Amino acid sequence: MTTPSQKLASESPAKARPAKPVLTLTEESYLNHCEACDGYCPSCNAITRDGDTEPDAEGYKCPDCYQSTVMGMEEALLAGHLDIEE
Ligand SMILES: [Zn+2]
Repeated sequence: MTTPSQKLASESPAKARPAKPVLTLTEESYLNHCEACDGYCPSCNAITRDGDTEPDAEGYKCPDCYQSTVMGMEEALLAGHLDIEE
């Protein structure tokens, strides 16, 4: 017995999706990255620079995607790219 179940996928109208990538970090992890001067790349949505990135840096080169998109941890937080969870 086969019942063709053709459900119409109802289009979900304008589902709220973030306009920019957001990386969720624990507070501890954020502080560690700050201390280590790591850098966040919105293009990769990841911490891609290991050190050598001041917390308020902007436009640093990403070693992963080779774009000048990396920002310091504080800058990334201010720009809304980081979500700190307790
Ligand atoms: Zn990148």
